[in-house]
Amino acid sequence: MIYKHDVLVVGAGLAGMRAAIEANQHGVDVAIISKVYPVRSHSNAAQGGINAALGEGDSWESHAFDTVKGSDYLGDQDAIEILAREAPAAVLELEHWGVNFSRDERGYLGTRNFGGASQARTFFVADITGQAILQVMFEQLVRSRIKMYNEWFVTKLVVDNGRVKGLTAIELRTGQLHLIQAKAIIIATGGMGRVYEPSTNALINTGDGMAIAYRAGAKLMDMEMMQYHPTTLKGSGALITEGARGEGAYLLNSEGERFMKKYAPNKLELASRDVVSRAEQTEINEGRGVNGCVLLDCRHLGKELIMTKLSQIHELALDLAGVDITQEPVPVRPGFHYPMGGIKTDVDGRATLEGLYAAGEAACISVHGGNRLGANSLLDTVIFGRRAGRAAALAAKETPEPNLSDAPLADEEARIRALVNRPYKGELAAKVRWDMGVAMDKYAGVFRDQQGLDTLGDLLHELRDRYKNVHVGDKSRTFNTNLQSVLELDYMLDLALAVQVTASHRTESRGAHTRLDYPQRDDEHWLKHILLEYHPDGPKISYLPVTITRWQPQVRTY
Ligand SMILES: Cc1cc2nc3c(=O)[nH]c(=O)nc-3n(C[C@H](O)[C@H](O)[C@H](O)COP(=O)(O)OP(=O)(O)OC[C@H]3O[C@@H](n4cnc5c(N)ncnc54)[C@H](O)[C@@H]3O)c2cc1C
Repeated sequence: MIYKHDVLVVGAGLAGMRAAIEANQHGVDVAIISKVYPVRSHSNAAQGGINAALGEGDSWESHAFDTVKGSDYLGDQDAIEILAREAPAAVLELEHWGVNFSRDERGYLGTRNFGGASQARTFFVADITGQAILQVMFEQLVRSRIKMYNEWFVTKLVVDNGRVKGLTAIELRTGQLHLIQAKAIIIATGGMGRVYEPSTNALINTGDGMAIAYRAGAKLMDMEMMQYHPTTLKGSGALITEGARGEGAYLLNSEGERFMKKYAPNKLELASRDVVSRAEQTEINEGRGVNGCVLLDCRHLGKELIMTKLSQIHELALDLAGVDITQEPVPVRPGFHYPMGGIKTDVDGRATLEGLYAAGEAACISVHGGNRLGANSLLDTVIFGRRAGRAAALAAKETPEPNLSDAPLADEEARIRALVNRPYKGELAAKVRWDMGVAMDKYAGVFRDQQGLDTLGDLLHELRDRYKNVHVGDKSRTFNTNLQSVLELDYMLDLALAVQVTASHRTESRGAHTRLDYPQRDDEHWLKHILLEYHPDGPKISYLPVTITRWQPQVRTY
């Protein structure tokens, strides 16, 4: 049996749900598919907040400029203008739907400071903002009666005559592979955090959608731009929200010095993430760290503020690092957090492949350019999720039924069966994934150079060879997480190589991409995006100019 829908959304995080709700309002038949139950999506983990220029004295232009500057002038300004202009209405819509945003003493929606922002414009629900928004969005999804395929794992897009016409997915409960046909498909599969180790991301963030779209022929963009968050716990890599610094926590080195004054004399700890991560790594590399970390001091904020506005990170630090942040500073280090790159789309979510759309963390519009500002990503999911949902629905109305045969299903079944039937040669997915993650962190992290990137390239090719022998030990059909992790690793290896290739190619330093061998930003040669197209012999590179509307590149200081 072939399932059929007009618009099919892959991913039920904030971007996917927002897209589905919008498409549904345009009167087409919509379905949403997710490898986990929707409220377990990583959007749930967002802590700090969502940006909008809603407050007195703030303006969308100021929000847009901060975002352009934060992006180190790589962000496309037409898209950034849309993000900043539509932000106030998007946040109010969430409030009207029922998100219980924290309020100030006057009863108005409360804001907190966030990195790289010239004023406090981050709206929040304590330090569980993502969870609060995701639950409310899910209510709206349920209310809309949109068909949900929960715990279905998408493995491949079906492309016919240059157009995306469907996909294959494993129903995880039964292990059965299905074919779903659609006139338009929106990829909203979130981030690829697990390509790095450690990472702030959930274990499910394996970049599947980006890699599946890339394999199908869609272009990826800005893949060298990988964000390290300045405050992650040593070991687990769990996130300590930027909201802590927004509330006034500061960073110390082993000499008890508030070192950010040397690197960002005006904004200090609230400089943008790339700047703070580089500063911390420099302190650590020059011997002023504490066991590979620096210290985040929250004590002066007082127990009451911590327990009301930062209670989740209090619990995380206690459970995962054994530190009570009301009593002692917590060791933190820069850790992998967010890819600015992803599936290249226009401002309505259209990918470079016909019939395909993308939104949220899986997409690159590019509003974040070389470095994303904190609290701009939740915003990106709802604004560009809505726009992609609308564009996909309107296009679906004009598109004839694809009428797929079940041949693609048989092909994909054969591919997966071959994987399951591989003989055991001692290679496990977990081991290959770990070696990839550690290598990515070492050679494509905060600081990079050609020698390290070449080493990484060799390692990734070795890992690709090792992947050919990775074994699926579990032969059962019900919730075969072993098989799932082997399929996910395939996607991750493609994305790791995409990062390595583009990072080697960009011979300058911009945003999160810092080349020790090319320390300067080079607008003359590199004020452009790098696009990547999948090719069996290796990725093919092309370029796209950055869209500049009103802000010419300037020297970037905080
Ligand atoms: C710890 C943490 C804290 C954060 N805090 C903030 C913050 O305070 N403010 C902010 O703006 N941003 C924050 N971010 C970033 C932000 O939360 C994410 O970028 C955003 O929520 C991503 O939403 P999404 O809808 O694109 O993807 P996700 O919420 O990650 O959802 C992805 C969906 O895709 C589905 N999926 C994936 N692969 C497949 C497959 N193969 N088949 C079927 N389904 C699939 C998953 O099941 C899931 O439903 C944070 C991120 C992390 C990790």
